[in-house]
Amino acid sequence: MKKKLELLEELQDVDQQIDSLKATQGGLQAEMSGINQGVDSAREDVAVVEGNLALREAEKKELEATHAAELENITRSETNMKEIKTNKEFQAVGREITAARKQVTDIEELLLQKIGQIDELTAELATKKSRLEELVENSSQHVAAKQAEIDKIQSEIDADVVRRESVVKGIPASLVKRFTILREQRRGQALAIARDGYCVGCNMQLPPQLYNSLYKYEEIMTCPHCQRILILKLQQQ
Ligand SMILES: [Zn+2]
Repeated sequence: MKKKLELLEELQDVDQQIDSLKATQGGLQAEMSGINQGVDSAREDVAVVEGNLALREAEKKELEATHAAELENITRSETNMKEIKTNKEFQAVGREITAARKQVTDIEELLLQKIGQIDELTAELATKKSRLEELVENSSQHVAAKQAEIDKIQSEIDADVVRRESVVKGIPASLVKRFTILREQRRGQALAIARDGYCVGCNMQLPPQLYNSLYKYEEIMTCPHCQRILILKLQQQ
């Protein structure tokens, strides 16, 4: 029985070690996905500016086409004017030309605005692209370092799992099951040290008869207060 209790202690020890290694690993994984998210969002930023820029370029092209068409209209009207006979017609075409010239001026104004916007977006894009490049470079180093740590921890976990298997072999399956359930219920602590008549797991006094029977190592005893399996320790460890 004493041997079984020792094995249970070893099992608790290895399980706690696996838990803590997995927690460290989880933290590293979270950091890694944080880095990757940063890169993703910088990439999205670049795509948004690229989209805006493409839109402004298309609008500029459209304005340029309208501008060219209006200029052509003016030229045509001016040519037509030479063949006009009546004053009334002459005035009408004149008004058309004036309106078309006003249109051309408006379009030129819009074109200037568009060019300004394109310049701003081009500068913004360059800034965002260089930031992205920097991030990609830095993050690939960070991610590689984190991955190496994660892999190193994984090999420690694998070694612990092998150790755990050999410990489990020495313990009856029913006891392992009991231990596992208790561990889940008691936040990772299935065992509790019994010392000076107390359960160290919950700091409650143990019935004297129960405490005394622990010395005999005849059966697995549990604390009546926290239900943990009691391990007798006479001295502070
Ligand atoms: Zn207890």
